[in-house]
Amino acid sequence: MCEIKIEKAQQLKQKPDFSKLGFGKYFTDHMFIADYSDDKGWYNARIVPFGYIPIHPASTVLHYGAEIFEGMKAYKTADGYQMFRPRENIKRMNDSAARLCLPSIDEDLFLNGLTTLINLDYNWIPDSEGTSLYIRPFMFGNDESLGVHAVHNATFVIILSPVGSYYATGLSPVKIIIEEQDVRAVRGGTGYAKCGGNYAASLRAGKRAADKGFSQVLWLDGVERKYIEEVGAMNVMFKIDGKIITPELTGSVLPGVTRKSCIEILKDWGYDVEERLLSVEELTIAAKENRLEEAWGTGTAAVVSPIGHLFYDNQDYTVSNNQIGELTQRLYDELTGIQWGKREDKRNWVYKVKVK
Ligand SMILES: *Cc1c(COP(=O)(O)O)cnc(C)c1O
Repeated sequence: MCEIKIEKAQQLKQKPDFSKLGFGKYFTDHMFIADYSDDKGWYNARIVPFGYIPIHPASTVLHYGAEIFEGMKAYKTADGYQMFRPRENIKRMNDSAARLCLPSIDEDLFLNGLTTLINLDYNWIPDSEGTSLYIRPFMFGNDESLGVHAVHNATFVIILSPVGSYYATGLSPVKIIIEEQDVRAVRGGTGYAKCGGNYAASLRAGKRAADKGFSQVLWLDGVERKYIEEVGAMNVMFKIDGKIITPELTGSVLPGVTRKSCIEILKDWGYDVEERLLSVEELTIAAKENRLEEAWGTGTAAVVSPIGHLFYDNQDYTVSNNQIGELTQRLYDELTGIQWGKREDKRNWVYKVKVK
């Protein structure tokens, strides 16, 4: 593993008002960067002042979209901070890397770079209710040539952004429209990889939905346009007839850390959790017959997001009377409780770092 060189910022930035952060608008004083080449492996690991990254105009990422990323959070504690299952994100980043022919990153280099960076920018971790330090690691293919091939050079970067509570006005149900035209991903494609290209492909449907007054789209599978996959950039779960149903990981669904954690918690609570194909027909019939009791999305940014309306084929289905479902709320409280260190961490999910 290579040593990390640290170049501190000459001047620290003024910190924003931690009560008005929003999402991803402010960045800390430093960033972590490491370079990769086939002959050297990972090299020149460094922490430098946050700023622009010079890039060759022929760089792979600008033309062929070789880019992957991760999203995690650090929460302030009395003597430092803690993260939620960070090794799961590192593993997933390497799965994404393998799919896009990017190099895999050493777990120690990743964690060491990340904690060294956070320790340096520790005062940027907000501490008011619901806030956290959002961590955005990303990697891109950086060959300086237009040839189309697996990359030989790459760059790995970590940037940090203090973020406010996703729910400035409390947890509230969202309106979702089932997307019948565009698809996010297909089996055999890159759906399971956290890559920028998947997001680029999803923006049009998201914009159309927003223009019609919906928060997000519910994606159907790309082959038959029949099975539920995800909601926006979150995994999705339904409570039907007392059971929990969530789309199985067919290859086009992103394997969320929040999804996986919810499944473990729900099973511990005694729920039957079915990871399987769920057709839009089965879902809408259950909704019509009032057997769809709750629906929610899961992901790092929002943790758990209740769904209050589902719109499909010119029909509006109300879920849980457009209220936060009881189980949805219980899951949100349990997960955020563990993440913020207010509830017991029975499963050893929390990774603590002491700073003081
Ligand atoms: C990141 C992401 C998720 C959620 O994953 P978490 O690990 O729970 O944050 C779900 N779907 C998509 C498409 C994503 O990119």
